[in-house]
Amino acid sequence: MLNGNLKLAIQKSGRLTEKSIQLLRNCGLDIDNYSNRLIVSSRNFNLDLLFLRDDDIPEYVQDGVADIGIVGENVVIEKEAEVDIIQKLGFGKCKLMIAIPEDATMMNTEELSGTRIATSYPKILKNYLKNQKIDAKVITISGSVEIAPSLGIADSICDIVSTGNTLKLNKLKKFTSVFDSEAVLIGTKILDPGSEKYILLKNLILRIESSLNARTSKYLMMNVPKQSLERIEEILPSLKSPTILPLADESMLSVHAVIPSDTFWDIQNDLINAGASGLLLIPIENMLL
Ligand code: ATP
Ligand code: ZN
Repeated sequence: MLNGNLKLAIQKSGRLTEKSIQLLRNCGLDIDNYSNRLIVSSRNFNLDLLFLRDDDIPEYVQDGVADIGIVGENVVIEKEAEVDIIQKLGFGKCKLMIAIPEDATMMNTEELSGTRIATSYPKILKNYLKNQKIDAKVITISGSVEIAPSLGIADSICDIVSTGNTLKLNKLKKFTSVFDSEAVLIGTKILDPGSEKYILLKNLILRIESSLNARTSKYLMMNVPKQSLERIEEILPSLKSPTILPLADESMLSVHAVIPSDTFWDIQNDLINAGASGLLLIPIENMLL
């Protein structure tokens, strides 16, 4: 393990595993099949991947066993480890919510005062209750929190909710949102800025940023009559000014622009109405701004 490689801890097997590996592969890192291995090295980047339980990742990073880690923000905050969030990663999004029995008539969060709330996230919940000035009792349970109300050990729960199906099965309904989470890259400040590892980390962060930028952008190419150029430029929500190239037909231009992916369907009609034709929308693999 003491080979000078940057050590990145990721979840061994769970919701974040595949997407963490995918993110690294999108950054150009060659990573072998990782099933059932504790440590895997990248073939083309000085990086060792450590596969751990997600709950252990903040502490291992804090203690320097791993230099950096990918884990849910909910786990980072709950563990109160002394680590920095270097970057939000845009996947593993979920909400920590308070849910109450379907037949409960509670309307306002103040009504939670004097009740018992079961959760596996006592620190995040207590923080929320303190900020909201709600005086409720927090019951800490490590798993299957959603059955606590039917067992009579709590009046409501605070847990990660995505589709709400688990709530429905347990005759619970969403009440209020406590914390929005997504996967984050964490690290500590102990790396010496002159060190090899620091340089590796900067390089990796740049690659991650460029891959995240690329995911939310598309490259748009189209042909435009010269006299419509001004109108087309007004419609385009491009990140930088568009590239304009001449075409063999001198009355036409080729216009290329990087646009936020989700805007294409909103602007395509306007572009066509303004005279654009031959629209091509191309995915971008990496993008350095
Ligand atoms: P481990 O065995 O590593 O302890 P786990 O069972 O605690 O795994 P997972 O259920 O794999 O953890 O979830 C990992 C993280 O994925 C969560 O901490 C959270 O940040 C995120 N996540 C995203 N969507 C959901 C969801 N619908 N339910 C639970 N976690 C989710
Ligand atoms: Zn866990």
